[in-house]
Amino acid sequence: MSVIVAGGGMAGAACASELAKNGIDVTLIDRHDYTQFQPLLYQVATSQLPAEDIARPLARMFRDRAQVTVVTGEVTAIDVGMRTVTTDARTFGPADQLVLAAGSQANFFGVPGAAEHAFPLYTVRDAELLRRHLRDRLRELSKPDSDGALTVVICGGGATGVEIAGALAELFRALLDDGKLVGRATVRLVELGKVLLAPFTDRSHRYALGKLTKMGVDVTFGVAVSSVDIDSATLSDGSTVATDTVIWAGGISGASLVASSSITPGRGGRIDVAADLTVPGHPDVFAIGDVANVPDPAGGTFPQLGSVAQQSGTWVAKNIRALREGKAPTPFHYHDKGIMAMIGRNAAVAEVGPHRHQLEGPFAFAAWLGLHGALLSGFHEKGDALMNWADDYIHHARAADLELEESVGRIAWSDDASDRPNLEL
Ligand SMILES: Cc1cc2nc3c(=O)[nH]c(=O)nc-3n(C[C@H](O)[C@H](O)[C@H](O)COP(=O)(O)OP(=O)(O)OC[C@H]3O[C@@H](n4cnc5c(N)ncnc54)[C@H](O)[C@@H]3O)c2cc1C
Repeated sequence: MSVIVAGGGMAGAACASELAKNGIDVTLIDRHDYTQFQPLLYQVATSQLPAEDIARPLARMFRDRAQVTVVTGEVTAIDVGMRTVTTDARTFGPADQLVLAAGSQANFFGVPGAAEHAFPLYTVRDAELLRRHLRDRLRELSKPDSDGALTVVICGGGATGVEIAGALAELFRALLDDGKLVGRATVRLVELGKVLLAPFTDRSHRYALGKLTKMGVDVTFGVAVSSVDIDSATLSDGSTVATDTVIWAGGISGASLVASSSITPGRGGRIDVAADLTVPGHPDVFAIGDVANVPDPAGGTFPQLGSVAQQSGTWVAKNIRALREGKAPTPFHYHDKGIMAMIGRNAAVAEVGPHRHQLEGPFAFAAWLGLHGALLSGFHEKGDALMNWADDYIHHARAADLELEESVGRIAWSDDASDRPNLEL
């Protein structure tokens, strides 16, 4: 009697952990030997955290759980009828239950050149590639005789676009104030809609726009990036921006793994699931987290959020236990802790709980820490390390040193070699 979980992100890891607690054997398959913590990717991209601090070896996470077998491999085919999973090495299963938890990928919406030349921000590797690119460009601009210019174009004003825009604006300002930036570095954010942080309320829209504008970010609404080249981006209003740095925060779709199964994808290339998170027609196959369109009681679907991923993972494990006890699986109930976004040091917006109690500034940052501390509890047992890092982050404007001297602030998780992911960057 065993379960296969395909994908070891927030949803898959939470599911495997809960299954193991219930004494159920599970094979957890991921293309990486680590799980990653996406909410802090923008910190890696802007050199405020090293990549290895937001990636944790799965083997280490489950070292005390004999029921969990961690497999590193690229899933190339899923047979939902047989409940087997094929990786580049071999086929696993048939399993008694199969859980699909492969997350999302960047959606370039067919914009010419975007997949080749833009920088998405979805994986640790994405963040590290962007960091290295920015470091090299900033080093050029720090030379005493530099008359160069860097215009970073950010496509999309959702949480990812706003967070990276704020972090970059702070970085450039700090370098300038320290006399380390000789050339010009600017941030331009384009958003097709009329507001930043669309899922938030108007008050948060205004706060985010006010803060970013004050930080020097040039925000344009009603405009999309319509093509990307190696040294320019063309916008939907016909204008062209000279840039070799387009950050793609324009949207996501379900992981490519969906196409490796016989499941017909639903909206956003994701898997439509029933209220109990089963794939219709397959009572022993579940989809959770970002890869699933999870129905909410209001008739829509839950957003692609860490808390939805983690809770759906735990819920499925409970439903699998129920099945094994001869009981019916139950509809997913989401405990809504709210939505939040970081705009910069002491500048955040938070709409807390199902009633969206609004917070801004330091209070919102505190709420962000509370929520992300809870999310990280599935990732790392040393929650106090996050708090120490946050204190350091707030009180020491270190960014100006980072790009040029490569001394990055750390979350002090551990010095143990077994706790280091194989990043292969
Ligand atoms: C930049 C960014 C910032 C975010 N900030 C926040 C935030 O502040 N708060 C919040 O709540 N949420 C945030 N999110 C969303 C949150 O991170 C996701 O909702 C959550 O990670 C989804 O978990 P998941 O397990 O479904 O997918 P993932 O965490 O993406 O995990 C999927 C796993 O599947 C693996 N995989 C995929 N395909 C294959 C394959 N073919 N073979 C083998 N393995 C495969 C991947 O390697 C990965 O480990 C953010 C997301 C991003 C991108």
